[in-house]
Amino acid sequence: MDDRIYDCIVVGAGPAGSSAAYHLAKQGRSVLVLEAASLPRYKPCSGAVSPSVAQYFDFDFAPAIDNQRRQVRYTYQLDDPIDAALETAEPIWMVRREVFDQFLVQQAQAQGAEVKDGTPVTGIALAGDRWQVSTPSGPFTASYLVAADGAQGPMAGWLGFPSLPLRIATLLEVTTADPVADTFPMSFEFGLVKQGCLWNFPKRQGYSIGAASFVGKSAVGKAADKATADYQTALDRYCQTIGVNPAQAQTYHHALKLWDGQHPLHRERAVLVGEAAAIVDPLSAEGIRPGMISGVKAAAAIHRALSGETGALADYTAEMQTSWGADMQWAKRISGLFFRVPGIGYRVGIKRPTATQRLGQILAGEVQYADIANRVMKRLGAGLIPGR
Ligand SMILES: Cc1cc2nc3c(=O)[nH]c(=O)nc-3n(C[C@H](O)[C@H](O)[C@H](O)COP(=O)(O)OP(=O)(O)OC[C@H]3O[C@@H](n4cnc5c(N)ncnc54)[C@H](O)[C@@H]3O)c2cc1C
Repeated sequence: MDDRIYDCIVVGAGPAGSSAAYHLAKQGRSVLVLEAASLPRYKPCSGAVSPSVAQYFDFDFAPAIDNQRRQVRYTYQLDDPIDAALETAEPIWMVRREVFDQFLVQQAQAQGAEVKDGTPVTGIALAGDRWQVSTPSGPFTASYLVAADGAQGPMAGWLGFPSLPLRIATLLEVTTADPVADTFPMSFEFGLVKQGCLWNFPKRQGYSIGAASFVGKSAVGKAADKATADYQTALDRYCQTIGVNPAQAQTYHHALKLWDGQHPLHRERAVLVGEAAAIVDPLSAEGIRPGMISGVKAAAAIHRALSGETGALADYTAEMQTSWGADMQWAKRISGLFFRVPGIGYRVGIKRPTATQRLGQILAGEVQYADIANRVMKRLGAGLIPGR
């Protein structure tokens, strides 16, 4: 039995949890991170990260980056290719999650955060102004809690967050015998996956090839079986085009908890961050950068709450809703239209040279979906009219 009282317990050592732990520890707060898996752990993910996230940290991310890319290739049903380049200040980082996530854990530890891996949280209870957190290695106590346990962790439910529909994604991790050429672009294929897309983000020595649908029915569990079979067919066809044998890939199926409406991200003495808070972009499935930003903002709020400021956690919800959720409403609207008619979206949207420019600006946080949504939706709407 550990009788210390931590300022904060963070449940989950993904990018969102580690970001929160890093910033809390940096402020001199005592932090315990509880992680179910053994670290370092792999998280099924294609690992594209916008370098703009670096502005929230004071360390160099270089050791955590596998390679970088600017070149993008789009295809529609494996045909009609478009090559473009992101015009961002820095290329997009391609990361291996077992490396990137562990690097962040180590940064948090270097600031003084304690980390216990192989320690799943099995229950939580608020007693007065203390959270009792149960684990198989005994209970832990803290003044505040951060739920950072990802798409399928139990914390959101325990904290009364609404149960949102989960989507399923399939990911093939391919290791190649030879290094992948630096010229191999980030690739997006539309039209092979119904109501979604397929993407391939190259690593130095392999590919992370994903497939998911973003609209329509695709819950995890039994309903996902049909979807994953369809993804596999599409992935097999795509793999042939780049000379990869899908049978030699590691295949993962993982839930995606896309943003699906504004919800309170706090309750008494607790906040939700990252995918536990359902902040994944419903158009691009970008979850790492927003997860880390939510971790940074949550840490600031808990630091203020620990200093006696009432309303600090409510401010966290409000800030996430205005700085992220408000724009995700537009991302969801565009996604709903685009992925229902990807052929039209490809013709009237993706093919425009400005599409890649805007993608880069959105990933860099320089442009919001709200700024482009009306034009995009008008174009998609006009594309639906026969003859246009
Ligand atoms: C196929 C696929 C491809 C993707 N590609 C990209 C991409 O290229 N770029 C991008 O930005 N996003 C991508 N995403 C989304 C991204 O992977 C997630 O949004 C991101 O990992 C969320 O980070 P997180 O820290 O919130 O949670 P996670 O990284 O999921 O970490 C949560 C942690 O909590 C732990 N945990 C769970 N339950 C408990 C418990 N009871 N007790 C203790 N610990 C617990 C887990 O073991 C895990 O380590 C992709 C997702 C999928 C499925």
